[in-house]
Amino acid sequence: MLGTLVQGRVSLDGAACWASALGLKIAITYATQRRQFDGADGQEVVLLDYGKHQRRLFPRLATTYAQIFAHDEFLQKFDGVFSGRTDTPDDREDLETLAAALKPLSTWHALDTLQEAREACGGAGFMFENRLVGLRADLDIYVTFEGDNNVLLQLVGKRLLTDYAKQFTGKDAAALAKFAVGMTAGKLFHGAGLRQFGQSVVDLGQVSRSVENGLREEQQHLLLAERVQQMVADIAGRLRPAGKDKVLGAKLFNENQAELIEAARAHGELLQWEAFTDAVHRVDDADTKKVLTWLRDLFGLQLIEKHLAWHLINGRLSTQRAAAVSRYIDRLCARLRPYALDLVDAFAYEPEHVRAPIASGAERERQDEAREYYAALAASGDAPVLEKTLKKNAKR
Ligand SMILES: Cc1cc2nc3c(=O)[nH]c(=O)nc-3n(C[C@H](O)[C@H](O)[C@H](O)COP(=O)(O)OP(=O)(O)OC[C@H]3O[C@@H](n4cnc5c(N)ncnc54)[C@H](O)[C@@H]3O)c2cc1C
Repeated sequence: MLGTLVQGRVSLDGAACWASALGLKIAITYATQRRQFDGADGQEVVLLDYGKHQRRLFPRLATTYAQIFAHDEFLQKFDGVFSGRTDTPDDREDLETLAAALKPLSTWHALDTLQEAREACGGAGFMFENRLVGLRADLDIYVTFEGDNNVLLQLVGKRLLTDYAKQFTGKDAAALAKFAVGMTAGKLFHGAGLRQFGQSVVDLGQVSRSVENGLREEQQHLLLAERVQQMVADIAGRLRPAGKDKVLGAKLFNENQAELIEAARAHGELLQWEAFTDAVHRVDDADTKKVLTWLRDLFGLQLIEKHLAWHLINGRLSTQRAAAVSRYIDRLCARLRPYALDLVDAFAYEPEHVRAPIASGAERERQDEAREYYAALAASGDAPVLEKTLKKNAKR
């Protein structure tokens, strides 16, 4: 029954991606024009030059890029199945799993992004004419209709468990005994769901060491992929004692449901990361590739940061290395600052799409006019004298 809703989910996923992009286009454009509080040079600072503002908006921009690239792959799969070109039962099952993984992530992300974008524009963001409030209200129901997000992720989790079990079909007792040994289970597992994870049997110590040298593509992939693998293997191990006992099976499943849904979410995040990385590899222009690689790194690292507790508990990262992740994110944000406008302009929204007065250039005009006024006032010698200057002069 849930499977029949796949066409709607394609649209919801796309709409959620593009609503996030629009919210960021508005908030980032405004943040390059709006000035607030004096900087060290006495000039008011544009919002986007504040470290915290970058931290609020850039990781969400990176996630939006990842989701748009993943949506593109989703569309191609959808086209393959519905045009009949690649319409096998396996393709349909993959398409349904893909829809069930991506729609929850993009619709939750849209609500989060639109709220953050709204707050990042301050009081102006709350004005209905600036669109963010209306977009968020419209998108609210997306997390429920065409399948509630948590229920959809459970579908993905079950698929991951099925695929996991398939790997051991026909294996003898010795092979089964091997993966029962905690960590080893995670290492033996080479595939889950829609994509192969490739080489997953590596020395974890080596991965952890390289974190300090900068988390590059391979290490990001490994940390994200192995998290999914280990979570699925752990849950499968805890379900195994049920055997054919349905009552015990239901009890154990319920006890592990929350973690299974978390594993499905991790799987969706991995798919997005892979789609982003594939897209970066397709770029020819060297400068574009450089900036997109930073943005992809930001996406990967903020996922690792978000699940830092898991990586620490499971011995994937030391506390020192975990701290390095957050510092690297800060550096990436600063590096991306000069390209922020280009990155939102690349969504190719025209003014008639944006229709938000705060992102129209009006704020820049207002700020420029105010700055000119105060500069002229200061030059005239008629500028009001600050109270603290008066006090300082009185003391002399
Ligand atoms: C505006 C709107 C338009 C809609 N349009 C259509 C339409 O055109 N066609 C159509 O067929 N349907 C439509 N729907 C129905 C929509 O698909 C359902 O609302 C949606 O699937 C959620 O089901 P529910 O409302 O029964 O919530 P419930 O299934 O009762 O879920 C309520 C909560 O319980 C949780 N929950 C439910 N089951 C589980 C479980 N097994 N484990 C853990 N948690 C669980 C959910 O996560 C959710 O948070 C529409 C709904 C809305 C609100």
